[in-house]
Order: sequence, then C-alpha cells, then structure tokens
Amino acid sequence: MSRSIGELPHALDTLETGGELQQRLEGRHPAVFLDYDGTLTHIVDRPEDALISEEMREAVRSLAERCSVCVVSGRDRRVVQELMGLDNLIVAGSHGFDIWSPEGGEIQHEQGTSFGDLLGEVEDRLREGSTAVEGSLVEPKSASVAIHYRLASEEERPKIKELVDGLLEEHPGELKVTPGKMVYEVQPNIDWDKGRAVLYLLRALELDRDDVVPLYLGDDVTDEHAFGALSETSPPGIGVFVSDAEDPENATRTTAADYLLRSVEEVERFLDRLAR
Ligand SMILES: [Mg+2]
Repeated sequence: MSRSIGELPHALDTLETGGELQQRLEGRHPAVFLDYDGTLTHIVDRPEDALISEEMREAVRSLAERCSVCVVSGRDRRVVQELMGLDNLIVAGSHGFDIWSPEGGEIQHEQGTSFGDLLGEVEDRLREGSTAVEGSLVEPKSASVAIHYRLASEEERPKIKELVDGLLEEHPGELKVTPGKMVYEVQPNIDWDKGRAVLYLLRALELDRDDVVPLYLGDDVTDEHAFGALSETSPPGIGVFVSDAEDPENATRTTAADYLLRSVEEVERFLDRLAR
C-alpha cells in the first residue's frame, strides 16, 4: 500500500504516546535495519564527507546493546564498518551481498555455494584468459570480479572484451557485465534489492521469528523495496520513511512506509527512544 508522505503518522509521536507503533512492538524484540546515507547522516555532495555524528553513533551503539541493529548500505561493507566505528553492529554492504555480524563474522550469501563457485570460476577464467594481455588486472570483489585494462595497450584491449564476451556465452543467463572506466565488472545475474536483502538477513540472522518485529529506516527510492518487503514478514515489519523537509519532491512522493521521521536528528531521537 502506498501513501503520500504527508499522510504518514509521525513515528516519534506514536512511540512517545504509546500509540500503534508502540503496541506493535509490545512484548516483542525489535530488529532494526538502518540505511546509512540520508538516514544516519545528512546527504552531502561527496560521499566521503558523509560522516556520522558522535551523538548518532552513541544512539546506534546503545540500541545495538539491546537488540539486533543492522546497517544496510550500497556501499562496500568495510567502508560502512569504518564509518560506523562500532563493533556490536551487523553490517550489510553491497546491498546485502556482503554481511558481517558480531557473533557470526562474515555470513555467506544464500546463493552461497553456487554463487561463490561461479565467482571463483569467473576469476579463474579471467586470469587464465588474460595472462597473455600485459597490463590487464583481475580484481576479485565480494559480489563480482572486475577485470581492468587501463594499462593494456590499445591493440590488446579488444582481447579483454572477447574474453568477457566468451565468458558470458559459456554461462548463458548466469552472468551480467557492467562496463566502467577501462574495466568490466562481471556479476552473477540475479535479482537483488534492499527488500530481498532484508528478508534474507532476517533468515540468515535467525530473526524471522514471532517474537521479533523488523523495523527499517530509510530515505530513498531504493529503500522502498525494503518497506514493501516488510509487509511480507510475520509479524509484519514497520517501515519508517526519513524525509528531508527541504526536498520539494517529497510533496508529491508516495511511499510504502508506515511512519515518518522528518530529519536525521529525529532519527537519532527515535533510536534513543527505542533503546529505552
Ligand atoms: Mg539513503
């Protein structure tokens, strides 16, 4: 169900007055999923400037002492861990492909074996096929394998494209390629978004239980998948849209979230309140 942002009840009001949100949490543990950029930090021009405030870090830390807290970001997992600077936090980077939890360490993605095997095979094939191309470089990543050819000569570069095309033909429908600046990034061709990531995380972290209510806080279009997915959980999860009051687009936007917070500062107060 989609509603316009202006129709959403305010998350802090309902929590503080023992309203519906409070009732849905009654007798259950929250499992709190947090987007990073725009939810825990203000949106800035350069992503490297999006630093979390000491107060917000403290709010997340104390909440994570009381319940499961997971930051879900499109950024690299290690970058998010560094930005958060907390060790009692579950962190899902690359939109949930790369997960780390304080209890379990690294968690293998559910397409685990086939996915890992496939990437291993891609890496081997790219290494083999590119040995003769001087200046090429194969870089395995958590959810893809990249082959760089910036340092290869003009004449040799087409060989890299042939190699990648050949690999796709060998794995019909299994792989996709994103070309970048002098690089091809080869990834498994699977549907994945933050909604699937959250449902996967709930299972992987054994939080898909009757006594756990998932909450998801996010500010962006990609977070809508997560808000939508929360309606599929049992008990149903709670989506909180973090709206920038200054953003004119929010006047006309609709969301699948249940509640509204109007700023990063309100997110901090909400997390504080949840921790109590
Ligand atoms: Mg965001």
